[in-house]
Amino acid sequence: MAQIIDGKKLGARIKEKIHEQIPLLEQQYGRRPSLYVIIVGEDEGSLKYVTNKVKTAKTIGMDARLIALKENISESELINIIHVLNADPLVDGILVQLPLPNHINEDRVVDAIEKHKDVDGFHALNVGSLWQGTHCIAPCTPKGIIQLIKSTGIEIRGKMAVVVGRSNIVGKPVAKLLLDENATVVMAHTGTRDLRAVTLLADILVVAAGQEKLITADMVKPGAVVIDVGITRNAEGKVVGDVDFENVKEVAGYITPVPGGVGPLTIAMLMKNTMECFLCHAESSTDVSKLWATIIKARIGGSAE
Ligand code: NAD
Repeated sequence: MAQIIDGKKLGARIKEKIHEQIPLLEQQYGRRPSLYVIIVGEDEGSLKYVTNKVKTAKTIGMDARLIALKENISESELINIIHVLNADPLVDGILVQLPLPNHINEDRVVDAIEKHKDVDGFHALNVGSLWQGTHCIAPCTPKGIIQLIKSTGIEIRGKMAVVVGRSNIVGKPVAKLLLDENATVVMAHTGTRDLRAVTLLADILVVAAGQEKLITADMVKPGAVVIDVGITRNAEGKVVGDVDFENVKEVAGYITPVPGGVGPLTIAMLMKNTMECFLCHAESSTDVSKLWATIIKARIGGSAE
């Protein structure tokens, strides 16, 4: 039977480490990292989700603000607000909660965020840098997925990784991050002819399709690491993933639950990205990976994660 990968515990550990580092950064730079979250409209679920992001940032010692805007705000008004935040040296991270109302072009809004304040890693320049292999802010959920896989102690290098789903926010970036870890990566999607034949190859199976019970036990290689990214509400109103958890856990080696798997890591990585943006601004350098390693490690020891 599979070991359950506890995302809540791992996410809490990462946040705790950041919490410990913030007073030291404040001492050094005279201020704390700051995160500004923008939401447009009054969707209750999204509002709850962004409020949680702001609350988490505050709990670990960051400055965080929620900017809640009316549903009928125009695209140019929204972009103007982003320009103000871009110009403010006390703002490190800007996140615009997606989706936006239909009258607003999401790509134009995301690309209006200054590249080094784009904590979600969705800006075209960050996406380009990710695929080029140069430094970038990587998107939170894919980054969290890599942390979850690494937490099993299984080496990613040389493994066959199958990613189900090819979205810009999960499927494609997680495939690139797995490539960076030297996995052999296969992407499956709605155009894939025999999904089972593909998923059965996977030593590492990442599923981000948004389809309840898409992955059943007969589609999983015994001992595989299964990461379930999906979040949907089923007919009974219960939050479920894409994997038939009860049966797949009998076959897999490691598996993430829903909820309590990928979700907490997404938030933890948002905090980490905010720290990276802060360091980048505080040191006026774009080489934040180097900064992270040298500044944090040298000062208080421990891992750069
Ligand atoms: P999306 O709808 O943009 O993309 C879904 C992808 O899955 C598509 O590329 C599609 O080709 C593929 N797909 C759908 N049905 C399929 C099928 N039957 N067979 C093969 N491929 C199929 O979704 P997304 O934004 O990538 O999100 C995917 C899921 O992950 C959703 O449930 C979403 O709520 C969840 N999600 C969770 C987190 C988190 O933090 N836990 C973050 C982002 C997304």
